[in-house]
Amino acid sequence: MVLEVHDLHAYYGKSHVLQGVSMEVRAGEVVTLLGRNGAGKTTTLRSIAGSLTPPQGKVIFEGRDVARSEAYRIAAGGLCLVPEHRGIFSLLSVEENLTIAMRKRSPWQLADVYRIFPRLKERRKNGGARLSGGEQQMLAIARALLNDPKLLMLDEPVEGLAPVIVEEIVDQLKQVSATGMPIVLVEQNLEVCCQLADRHYILEQGRVVYTADNAAFVDDHAAKDRYLGVN
Ligand code: ATP
Repeated sequence: MVLEVHDLHAYYGKSHVLQGVSMEVRAGEVVTLLGRNGAGKTTTLRSIAGSLTPPQGKVIFEGRDVARSEAYRIAAGGLCLVPEHRGIFSLLSVEENLTIAMRKRSPWQLADVYRIFPRLKERRKNGGARLSGGEQQMLAIARALLNDPKLLMLDEPVEGLAPVIVEEIVDQLKQVSATGMPIVLVEQNLEVCCQLADRHYILEQGRVVYTADNAAFVDDHAAKDRYLGVN
């Protein structure tokens, strides 16, 4: 087991946004967090990554409870969140954005990420600000990999991108997953989720209301209709 989340709670002011989320990620798995707008998906990722400190609950990452640890320590331990707003340094080139993320003993080298993201190699001298939205997303994922994560959490990686770029990123995430990297994915695009995931969790009002492996979920039209308003 890579990650075990037990009874996670979160508040924004008095608003009790996460009301006891529990989930787990096993070695090499891709797991999605699904749910309608405002269900608490981003808040779950932020609570796991330590950018919000959960007042209650456990986040056991590689056997250790990190729920009360600071975000930078959690990230240094290999639990890496790629947020929705990608945090690219717009004044730096692609390659500079990548090299500042590199770690000495990381198994991930520039050549590895350029193999998965050939567009970044082509654009390596371009400034971050001159990249398309899709390229910025690729850069954010590539940069996270160079940081030597043990688990990658992605918040809406294909939101607002053209279908052809979405396909490209899905293929790239498959390649990342094929290296054995566990991934937690928050994504509104259900087709993307079903292409990538081994397992799904659905959140509703800050609680997990459904979980299934991908094969069962794909055919579970009743659950998709009930919890997500699609079928
Ligand atoms: P979305 O797809 O809309 O991002 P989500 O499932 O990721 O939805 P969250 O962003 O986790 O949902 O939000 C959960 C609830 O917390 C929502 O009701 C949202 O309005 C509220 N919320 C989120 N961020 C804040 C904040 N910074 N301050 C106050 N309330 C917030």
